[in-house]
Amino acid sequence: MEIINRRQRMSSVARKIRREQDRTIGLVPTMGALHEGHLSLVREARRMCDVVVVSVFVNPAQFGPGEDFAHYPRDLTKDTALLTDYNVDYIFAPPIEEIYPKGFSTYVNVEGLSEQLEGTARPGHFRGVATVVTILLNVVRPDFAFFGQKDGQQAIIIRRLVRDLALDSEIIVLPTVREDTGLAMSSRNLYLKPEEQQAAAVIHRALAKAKETYRAGERHGAKLTELVRTMIEAEPRVRLDYVSIMDGETLEKLDKLDERPMMIAVAAYVGKTRLIDNTTLNATKKKDGASAQA
Ligand code: AMP
Repeated sequence: MEIINRRQRMSSVARKIRREQDRTIGLVPTMGALHEGHLSLVREARRMCDVVVVSVFVNPAQFGPGEDFAHYPRDLTKDTALLTDYNVDYIFAPPIEEIYPKGFSTYVNVEGLSEQLEGTARPGHFRGVATVVTILLNVVRPDFAFFGQKDGQQAIIIRRLVRDLALDSEIIVLPTVREDTGLAMSSRNLYLKPEEQQAAAVIHRALAKAKETYRAGERHGAKLTELVRTMIEAEPRVRLDYVSIMDGETLEKLDKLDERPMMIAVAAYVGKTRLIDNTTLNATKKKDGASAQA
């Protein structure tokens, strides 16, 4: 395994792999502080691709003022040890100026999809995400890039971005990996005390209950969002920000539910920590058995 810091080196290594060796490349973009959720993406990349690149970059452009950029957990030594165990070929861990050189002034904005839900609470967040993902996809030019359903809105935005800009990578979205309690794994869970982690599990319980109620035939969106709201509000350590049911591709808010792919998304605060989670309804199964069911 090689750790690459320079974008030019990363580009030239990837070019060689594609052109001279005719091997497929899988890219797993991360911000490090790796956990089982990230590793599930790495495992699938390893299974599907000849060469696996994991990027580790805490992207300043996707953090707002007053957010946790400075405090975001960073431990490249530990991440490297984990990725060695997973037989990863390259870690791309650039310093900020390799991604955003002096005079950087070009941003990618996926309009419409970026301004709602997380975009409302975190203005500019998805512009930062879309920009860095575009740069990473252009540097590595992977055949496949792997993302988690955990960040459901992000996955939808990245799919749209790849389609709109005709980028030559296939986006694979994999299911959310959870703690035994049901809490979605997240690097930010490190901020939570054990009793807060326990309390935060209500988010998944509420989403699972809503999904079950949908499956039992409920088609009134407000009934499901109310159910989620009531369950979460009953947990005093968790403060709900939003719960929303949307079309799984356009993010159009829905009240009358039907049989199309949809997503119920939640954001909530536990103390100062913002947690997001979602569940999908009618997610399409992929041919190889992987699906974005959460
Ligand atoms: P992050 O390091 O938080 O930017 O996440 C990097 C990638 O890992 C994103 O595609 C996330 O959606 C994905 N990811 C994060 N947590 C999970 C999880 N619990 N299960 C599956 N994928 C995840």
